[in-house]
Amino acid sequence: EFAKSKSLAQQRQYLPIFSVRDELLQVVRENQVVVVVGETGSGKTTQLTQYLHEDGYTVGGIVGCTQPRRVAAMSVAKRVSEEMETELGDKVGYAIRFEDVTGPNTIIKYMTDGVLLRETLKDADLDKYRVIIMDEAHERSLNTDVLFGILKKVVARRRDFKLIVTSATLNAQKFSNFFGSVPIFHIPGRTFPVNIMYSKTPCEDYVEAAVKQAMAIHITSPPGDILIFMTGQEEIEATCYALAERMEHLISSTSKNVPKLSILPIYSQLPADLQAKIFQKAEDGARKCIVATNIAETSLTVDGIFYVIDTGYGKMKVYNPRMGMDALQVFPVSRAAADQRAGRAGRTGPGTCYRLFTESAYQNEMLPNPVPEIQRTNLGNVVLLLKSLKVENLLDFDFMDPPPQENILNSMYQLWVLGALNNVGALTEIGWKMVEFPLDPTLAKMLLMGEKLECINEVLTIVSMLSVPSVFFRPKDRAEESDAAREKFFVPESDHLTLLNVYLQWKNNNYRGDWCNDHFLHVKGLRKAREVRSQLLDILKTLKIPLTTCGLDWEVVRKAICSAYFHNAARLKGVGEYVNCRNGMPCHLHPSSALYGLGYTPDHVVYHELILTTKEYMQCVTAVEPQWLAELGPMFFSVKDSDTSLIEHRKRQKEEKTAMEEEME
Ligand code: ADP
Ligand code: MG
Repeated sequence: EFAKSKSLAQQRQYLPIFSVRDELLQVVRENQVVVVVGETGSGKTTQLTQYLHEDGYTVGGIVGCTQPRRVAAMSVAKRVSEEMETELGDKVGYAIRFEDVTGPNTIIKYMTDGVLLRETLKDADLDKYRVIIMDEAHERSLNTDVLFGILKKVVARRRDFKLIVTSATLNAQKFSNFFGSVPIFHIPGRTFPVNIMYSKTPCEDYVEAAVKQAMAIHITSPPGDILIFMTGQEEIEATCYALAERMEHLISSTSKNVPKLSILPIYSQLPADLQAKIFQKAEDGARKCIVATNIAETSLTVDGIFYVIDTGYGKMKVYNPRMGMDALQVFPVSRAAADQRAGRAGRTGPGTCYRLFTESAYQNEMLPNPVPEIQRTNLGNVVLLLKSLKVENLLDFDFMDPPPQENILNSMYQLWVLGALNNVGALTEIGWKMVEFPLDPTLAKMLLMGEKLECINEVLTIVSMLSVPSVFFRPKDRAEESDAAREKFFVPESDHLTLLNVYLQWKNNNYRGDWCNDHFLHVKGLRKAREVRSQLLDILKTLKIPLTTCGLDWEVVRKAICSAYFHNAARLKGVGEYVNCRNGMPCHLHPSSALYGLGYTPDHVVYHELILTTKEYMQCVTAVEPQWLAELGPMFFSVKDSDTSLIEHRKRQKEEKTAMEEEME
């Protein structure tokens, strides 16, 4: 209602942060670093940047604001550009990996923390920024945690630089202490009580339980929108599908007028235009039911939510020592996160939160706070980056919470295997080049191997295709048709080459959109891949790496692919069943793989990643020759046998059962 009847300017003045605008600006004037705490929706993300602009901080520099999530960076920049009545990308812009929507006029720049981190590589003092706002710092994303250490140095070197750290109530004191007891500014909250309802018994199928609960609310409870927290895209789609089905069933089985329900998914891979829908008012008074990942916990604020349904679960990237890699796994959320979720129901009026878990689970099983990402994920990129910033010993870096030594060593080991670090842990020539690419070390390695093997043109396409969401479109009601379309692109020995093949055919068809539709391909995904490709190509140019091609002789491309994935090499054990060569971990061919069901099961394969669903499935697989693994392996980069300190160390580490492993069990 409110959003419709009031102008944007009026809406701005109604936000809680507006009542403390002048005091806040005063504190910023008097201090170099300030921690700002406020409830979700108080106006931190959209208003702080504008206040700073109004107070003169965009003269001789710009205001930057980091976000842990891409979706938030995009959506908030759009909102602020509307509030400032300027085109997105003009005065207000955003930058996320492979997408820079800023220009020469940009004075307020939203970006992911990863983008700012990479900017510190080019400009250690971040001279173009007068102010940086580290937003959503309580999320403790990996990049934010590294930025903390880096920005602390910038603060010390540049007296004219201001740093604002924003946080939900969580962690504020810790942030203040880290920067030397800087002031904590509280934005007075305006929240309403939320009634918490627990499940009486542990819930077996939370998708089903959530659907039931949402339908019950819709039919029996007063107006107010519903927000459901799920763990990821698949579940969200399943929930939306089930809700739509129940609604349809209800409408056709009763003569009464069933109130309308507008079912809206939101997750990071959802196209931007569909994401924007959650902020719009539903048609003719329908009740909105938003089904979200934890993105709606704090980074996006939707008004009008009166009911929250919380599954109590979320997906987290966790380094799994057994698999030797990060995996997205479903975990119970922390108590702090559950409270945040519940709070979403009390923004507009008193609300209700239905927890699909028991009170005893909340009290006894959930951790009080989430574990910072830096303590649970692979640090490959961080290690590369810090090494290139001349941080020789990572254990000396000023981390707010240092990562476990085991994590650092694992990541260093993986970089050593890829040839990015030498035996004493310093960056090699390849390592230095890898830092230049905004890519995971594996993909950067593949690219550089493409240079060595003179097929970089082909590898570039594969890397670009792997950097975007899957381009294969598989609507539920046309599954067979789309599978058949997909099979036409198969290169039997490789999913990676299949991606290359798709891209080349699209190119041969003049990058046409209708051609994509005919072949069950996402045109947006392919266009994105093309954009990524051209950006990576620019980097190759600045590095003076020539664009070599192997034409259609793709065996050499498979070699380059092989060289990136030593840690993900597997050998055949049974029908469609493989084991990881390094750790014996079982892994299976996915039915969607080009290698599946073609009567062709190679003895050795490498894979891009492992997906844990009902089984451990290899995602994106390529057949390789065992001698390549030997030939291209770590020894290829003239690693001397004599200096094995790192390997020794790693062995010792492995023998001791680490705290992390125990925790995970
Ligand atoms: P905070 O960062 O303190 O959580 P925000 O600045 O994100 O708060 O949000 C302030 C207000 O702006 C919210 O009430 C929200 O409804 C509105 N808002 C934020 N982003 C958008 C958007 N993309 N579209 C519409 N409204 C938005
Ligand atoms: Mg915010």
